[in-house]
Amino acid sequence: MISKIESQFQTEAPIFGHNSFDNHEQILFCNDKDTGLKAIIGIHSTTLGPALGGTRMRLYNNEMEAINDVLRLSRGMTFKSAITGLNLGGGKAVIIGDPKKDKTPELMRRFAEFVHGLSGAYITAEDMGMETEDMDTIRGVTPYVTGISESKGGAGNPSPVTAYGVYMGMKAAAAFKHGTDILEDKVILVEGVGHVGEVLVEHLTNEGAKVFITDIDHERLKFVSERYGATIFTGSDICSLKMDIYAPCALGATINDYSAENLQADIIAGAANNQLADANKHGEILKARGIIYAPDFLINAGGIINVFAELEGYGRQEIMNKTKNIYHTTTKILERSRDENITSNEAAMKIANERIAQAKQSKVHTEV
Ligand code: NAD
Repeated sequence: MISKIESQFQTEAPIFGHNSFDNHEQILFCNDKDTGLKAIIGIHSTTLGPALGGTRMRLYNNEMEAINDVLRLSRGMTFKSAITGLNLGGGKAVIIGDPKKDKTPELMRRFAEFVHGLSGAYITAEDMGMETEDMDTIRGVTPYVTGISESKGGAGNPSPVTAYGVYMGMKAAAAFKHGTDILEDKVILVEGVGHVGEVLVEHLTNEGAKVFITDIDHERLKFVSERYGATIFTGSDICSLKMDIYAPCALGATINDYSAENLQADIIAGAANNQLADANKHGEILKARGIIYAPDFLINAGGIINVFAELEGYGRQEIMNKTKNIYHTTTKILERSRDENITSNEAAMKIANERIAQAKQSKVHTEV
């Protein structure tokens, strides 16, 4: 039995015809025998600006899975930056290997040389399997990197900014659904109380919401519960809790066939990437059930706003102002979704694509 990804690679156009290819401008395969580097850089679009997106290092089951990951992620970055109003394109990189065993400074420097060779068309940042020190190592070779240490001029930890953006998106969704953005007394389940989830819990408990938390890490649950007075959810199925808002802040794809049909919430607004296992199918189910979904790639954009600030050299206040604007963009998307009778995800994609098309159009006019 061959997997879906493998069967895709048995077609005549395994790359250009790949589901996630979606007109990528450039894909660079990086190989270095001496350091063992095997990496892929995907540049989906540079229409709005340089393609910015993190580098992920992890073991993949096979190369096809790595290609699929980089294409899917770099395409996602194009829309995240477009919808957020940033002058950035979409790109991403993957390094194939175990970050705990295979990562060396030499390997990171060799990778940085490949990034440098793209002359700024791609700018890298941190993602899974990467640390701030790795970005500092890359900075020793190329300027085309963000997310470096604050002591070296970097913008620092993006998670509190991401949490603030999610909070803004959640409030906008509440105003749309309930007619008020006041979250006091609302029952909110935060799934995953890591870097982003914890700060979100802080905002919510400060406002007087009734916050429930769940996490696979029991130490963290205890810590966050004691610190902010949140209630630990002890059930085995989140759908058994009657809540106003569900905030997925751990893994993606938690909205699946079962949860889309059974979740007892009015609103979904969280930080996790790719919350809908199937954007069209599950988006439609939520819409039919009257559940408001605040698109993840918009409301978790605080992190990219933070690294963009590093490039532009603007300060904390400007970062927070831009992140606050997620509230207005969320409202715009939800109104469009209602007016055009489409899912909120579709509405967000439409707005992002319109911005890209406009930029393309004005480029054509400038060149003529
Ligand atoms: P994190 O690793 O600090 O926290 C994730 C938490 O989720 C951990 O406490 C972990 O124990 C918990 N968890 C893992 N699996 C779980 C499960 N099955 N059920 C319940 N809890 C589980 O990560 P983070 O930086 O807080 O990011 C959270 C999510 O937001 C991720 O999906 C990430 O991709 C996304 N995101 C983060 C940022 C950022 O700035 N950190 C930006 C954009 C998107």
